[in-house]
Amino acid sequence: MQAIVCHAPKDLRVEPEAHVPALAAGQLRVRVARGGICGSDLHYYQHGGFGAVRLKEPMVLGHEISAVIEEVGDPQQGFSVGQRISVSPSRPCGGCKFCHQGMPNHCLNMRFYGSAMPFPHIQGAFRETLVIDASQAHVLAPTTTLAEGALAEPLSVGLHAIQRAGGVFGKRVLVTGCGPIGNLLIGSLKAAGALQIVAADLSDSALVCARRMGASETHNLKNEPQALARYTVEKGHFDVMFEASGSAQALRDGLTCVRPRGIVVTVGLGGDVSIPLNLVVGKEIDLRGTFRFHPEFAQAVDLLNRKVIDVTPVISHTFPFNEAVQAFELAGDKQQAMKVVLDFGVKDL
Ligand SMILES: [Zn+2]
Ligand SMILES: [Zn+2]
Repeated sequence: MQAIVCHAPKDLRVEPEAHVPALAAGQLRVRVARGGICGSDLHYYQHGGFGAVRLKEPMVLGHEISAVIEEVGDPQQGFSVGQRISVSPSRPCGGCKFCHQGMPNHCLNMRFYGSAMPFPHIQGAFRETLVIDASQAHVLAPTTTLAEGALAEPLSVGLHAIQRAGGVFGKRVLVTGCGPIGNLLIGSLKAAGALQIVAADLSDSALVCARRMGASETHNLKNEPQALARYTVEKGHFDVMFEASGSAQALRDGLTCVRPRGIVVTVGLGGDVSIPLNLVVGKEIDLRGTFRFHPEFAQAVDLLNRKVIDVTPVISHTFPFNEAVQAFELAGDKQQAMKVVLDFGVKDL
């Protein structure tokens, strides 16, 4: 079986994986079908990590996957061979204090696929065969494609961000940054009943996608840097802002556009940035982080299965997995690519 392994920055190899794990009760052996390349995978490929998180050993990348069940560890689990599933990469321990406090995304022993946060690193899911816990498997409807199933993970990130905002029904919302996460978030905001969704980015193609996902207004801040100024009158317009670009400027601009007691959720990872704290204090703005997800994964698959959110506008390219290097290069080109999906050789609908 082959896997996509990152050895160092710009050293990505499709190579055989000798270790084939045994199948225990409560587990499933799956054939990986589609894999979405995520921003974090790209960071490992381009820079060997992000912030303090660094590759210290070769690591299989990937955490956004769909699959087909090949073998069932114990028939009591309710799964059967041939079922098409989306696989949650979130593997909290269930026993630590944060798991007990209902915050499994903060699990102290989290084994999230393709993460160099702990050492030894948690190996990822871009491989032909994978053994998963049955609890990670979420069955796809006969009408949901394997490619859509691979997008349940980034969709979950947006759903959790909305949870952090505390609901968006009837709210005026600003989204800065329309990469895959920002655009899937826009689809979720639309489904969650946001009154107005204003999207901002530096790329026209990203904003075209934002429109298709449900943005009511879009602004290209490269062509029109002052476009958001109209929302700053009378102490600001938006009830909620989601910052999904990781840009310090976007966060600063957003703070001027959010009304008093508005909520700013930072989805993008931006490193160390300086912000006008006087605005946060003076307007009593709630600044909130959001990190991964856990229960939202099942919700994401359900929304896909019921066709509540159409994620297909976000999928820009599909590559055979053995062309991973080309796929990663393209995924890094934000002018051309939105979500790049790897095809592991399983036929879709
Ligand atoms: Zn992801
Ligand atoms: Zn835990």
